[in-house]
Amino acid sequence: MAFLELRYHNTCKLPSWKQKRAACLRCPLHRRMKITKPALLSCVEQNSVNERSLKEDSLDKRALRRKLTSSENFNRRGFSEEKEATQLMMNSEFSSSLLQEARKGKNEIRSGQVTVKLANSYGFCWGVERAVAMALETRKHFPNQRIWITNEIIHNPNVNARLAEMNVKFVPHKNFVRDFSGVSKDDVVILPAFGATLSEMQYLSNLGCQIVDTTCPWVSKVWNSVDKHKKANCTSVIHGKWNHEETIATASFSEKYIIVLNMEEAQYVCKYILHGGDRNEFLSKFRNAISPGFDPDLDLEAVGIANQTTMLKNETNAIAKLFEQTMLKKFGPQELSKHFIAFNTICDATQERQDAMLDLVEESLDLVLVVGGFNSSNTSHLQEIAETKGIPSYYIDGPERIGPNNRIVFRSSSSQKLIEKYNFLPQGPVKIGVTSGASTPDKIVEDVIERIFMIHKLYCNT
Ligand code: SF4
Repeated sequence: MAFLELRYHNTCKLPSWKQKRAACLRCPLHRRMKITKPALLSCVEQNSVNERSLKEDSLDKRALRRKLTSSENFNRRGFSEEKEATQLMMNSEFSSSLLQEARKGKNEIRSGQVTVKLANSYGFCWGVERAVAMALETRKHFPNQRIWITNEIIHNPNVNARLAEMNVKFVPHKNFVRDFSGVSKDDVVILPAFGATLSEMQYLSNLGCQIVDTTCPWVSKVWNSVDKHKKANCTSVIHGKWNHEETIATASFSEKYIIVLNMEEAQYVCKYILHGGDRNEFLSKFRNAISPGFDPDLDLEAVGIANQTTMLKNETNAIAKLFEQTMLKKFGPQELSKHFIAFNTICDATQERQDAMLDLVEESLDLVLVVGGFNSSNTSHLQEIAETKGIPSYYIDGPERIGPNNRIVFRSSSSQKLIEKYNFLPQGPVKIGVTSGASTPDKIVEDVIERIFMIHKLYCNT
């Protein structure tokens, strides 16, 4: 983050450091000098700078977000005149007539000795569909302008590759540091479905470029709930991955926060609330997952629960319950409402896909295929459900992972590594459960199913 400040202010003629810092992203000197390479924003550390500049602006984060999103260069609706053509494109590129037919029936597809049983809910959620459609609309609406996306529009390699083919550029980043130096005020910047941080929004707004915000309303709902935590003087406990883009964005809107990955981390925090503990160990354990200046002895007196929308809903609910019981034990029922608040922010689409997967694994299946990008959080949680049930399950990101000699290359959720396996399809009749994450186009699932039929026919038809 120091890098951002240095790049901006070393050459700045404003007299004091304080003024330099206050001028940060709007420095007139830099505008005049047409310095176009000042902008490295760290996703993880930007909160500290952001918080300082926000205080100096005398605006709270909520007010600033509202101000930014209502500015003229900020578009949250897409381009209605492009919608029809975009829909045709979405249908031809990402949907599948095979799966549409299956949805009308029992979600089953048969070929030879193979029966594919699809989950009752899978694939593109409306938030992802909306984001992809808005990105395509943006390309059509600005045919000659340079277009950027601050990150992958969604966590799917095929969709992102298609956008890259359409000359939509991805803002480069390394080790959580995003480099905006290539973006100019004449460009268009798309914010992805899982949102962007407040300082990224602030930077781009000040740059003066066109911003197309595809943030899913469910994600914004979580941001609204952390606003409420702050209003109630609560620290936000965010159930999520500290290095996931959505959680990084949510944290950037929180005043005080701690991110817990799972029940084990939640139990650690709750034990500290009730019995205290080793402060240094606490701070070291959560060093990447707490707001700047977080003090576990002061900042856990009142908590509000928020979540990354794609976490396992049962785990989020259990973590919320644990914190509620902890506060109940510590402060008693009369005081509970002063020390604990929670709003339901689990996204419907995530919930539906997880519930459908829970139903699917109750069927008598020989194996399960989970299809989705390897960095898709909601897809990996679907895979966890299959693993918990003890059914042989394979997490793949596309049909090319399945090939000759009855071979599959899949991602192991325990080691996160790719594993190669031969003879993964059993001989003779087989029933395969198939699901896909919220960022996976049906077309990819169709291609996977067609590949399975072909491989089984060639190698397993006894
Ligand atoms: S999974 Fe939920 S929160 Fe995420 S984009 Fe889809 S609808 Fe929105």
